[in-house]
Amino acid sequence: MSTTRELHERAMELFEASLLARRAEDEGRMNRFLAQALKLECEAADTVADDYALEPTRSVLHRSAAAMALSSFDTKTARRYVEAAFEGKPPAEVGSELQKLSEQITVLEAEMKSYALKAPTGLTPVQQVIRKFNSNPPTDIVSLANALGLSVLFLDLGTDAGEIVRDIRRGGFSGYSIQINTNDPHVRQRYTIGHETAHFLLHRDRVKNRLRDDRMYRSGLGTTKEKEADALAADLLMPKTKFDVSVIAMKRRLGIRRRN
Ligand SMILES: [Zn+2]
Repeated sequence: MSTTRELHERAMELFEASLLARRAEDEGRMNRFLAQALKLECEAADTVADDYALEPTRSVLHRSAAAMALSSFDTKTARRYVEAAFEGKPPAEVGSELQKLSEQITVLEAEMKSYALKAPTGLTPVQQVIRKFNSNPPTDIVSLANALGLSVLFLDLGTDAGEIVRDIRRGGFSGYSIQINTNDPHVRQRYTIGHETAHFLLHRDRVKNRLRDDRMYRSGLGTTKEKEADALAADLLMPKTKFDVSVIAMKRRLGIRRRN
């Protein structure tokens, strides 16, 4: 048990160090500390893996290892430790944290494999998240973006509408943040969050480190890609049956109707 505690305490120190490096935007140091923390936290969890009577310690250590693995984009390890945690008898509070972690792993797996929305049959994990938020209008678009692993920040972007940025310091679990012009009216900000989320889901291979949209939602990707982002933004903000009329009206109000 003392070995378990030592491993865990050392892992937490290294994790703290990784957070400091993250705040300083030193990605190399962050990744090194995170990898070391993950290794030790996995070892700590492994020492109690067969001790099912040791709750909540057993599930807490497994959850912690899984969360560190998610931060490292190691979805396989994250999944293994979440499942191992559920094999014990986690208390309700830890159980609901594990459930949330499990959903984030599923979304990140889907986004890493293919961020496109096409599925052979049924709904993809990403579509399921979207459905959960947009079936009850008006969509809580910030929470939807958060659930897809994006953080949403409101900043002064001059005359531009918004951007999507690979952001180790402030990004969500996908590693990206959406930045929205804080000077824009609420309705336009909502539209911009939808549009940038759509770029993330559809065009992440083209985003690289930063993709910025001007007032007319031109980012340099070309009209076809912008129209794709507009269409998905509409879908995110409103369910299919309602959005036709409303989005045309919304876009007219915002002055962003595109020529065909
Ligand atoms: Zn755009």
